[in-house]
Amino acid sequence: MVPGVKNEVMDSNPYAEGDDKAFDAGYHSFYKFTVTTFLLLTVWNLNLLWSNFPIDQAHLVITVFVAGFLFADLCSGLNHWFMDTWLPVHTLGFCPLLQHVVRSFRLHHAVPYKFGSSDFYATNGKDVIMVFPPLAAVMLYLRFASSASIIANYWWCVFACVTSFFFGLNSQFHKYAHQKKKAPWFAQVLQRIHIFLPPSHHNVHHTLPYDRHYCVISGLMNYPMDVLRIWRIMEYVIGKIFRCQPRSDDAHHRYGTPPKQNKHD
Ligand SMILES: [Zn+2]
Ligand SMILES: [Zn+2]
Repeated sequence: MVPGVKNEVMDSNPYAEGDDKAFDAGYHSFYKFTVTTFLLLTVWNLNLLWSNFPIDQAHLVITVFVAGFLFADLCSGLNHWFMDTWLPVHTLGFCPLLQHVVRSFRLHHAVPYKFGSSDFYATNGKDVIMVFPPLAAVMLYLRFASSASIIANYWWCVFACVTSFFFGLNSQFHKYAHQKKKAPWFAQVLQRIHIFLPPSHHNVHHTLPYDRHYCVISGLMNYPMDVLRIWRIMEYVIGKIFRCQPRSDDAHHRYGTPPKQNKHD
């Protein structure tokens, strides 16, 4: 934990804390539905991909799998960066689920250990919704397109499914990084070789001002994104275009002060 950031302040701030557990409990049946739908779509697509597998191009499997995995890691970073940087919690009352998600990102910086108390459905039930469109599109395409078209676009379908699968479960990899020795043995082994997000690597994100290492699946894409300062460049461009400040409401969540209306809200 970062010196100077007091968890007690965060815990006693009802605005930042909200009642996340009660909220997740109220949505638990919904999360079960979304995760089950995600798994069914994934298995269905696997079955369709298997039945169209071009055996003469089998050598491309590993390349496309690695590309999809790394792209999912990048997408997890983009999602995390956007939630951390641009969405002020107090302006999202029109969508309680989105407000809950953004508040959870802020809360997570100050009390990362709370991540471990969610079950599989609550951990992943919100993120999987984002990959329903690509998974459904691939399913419909593989079901109704002509054989010639499927052969021509087969590896794009694999890429979309691999990316969707890992991005849909990005919070699970993030959670393993916070569980450390309580994570399953296979997760700990894969964390040691940087295939899953290593806890020590992710600790960099939990250092003030929480503006680096946003990717949370393997964290490998953090190296190019941070070295090339891509997050800062995107913040500069977006700030200039929309005349807004990155992380403008972050201090309220860190120190428990009440939120003020941003003049640009
Ligand atoms: Zn964050
Ligand atoms: Zn974290």
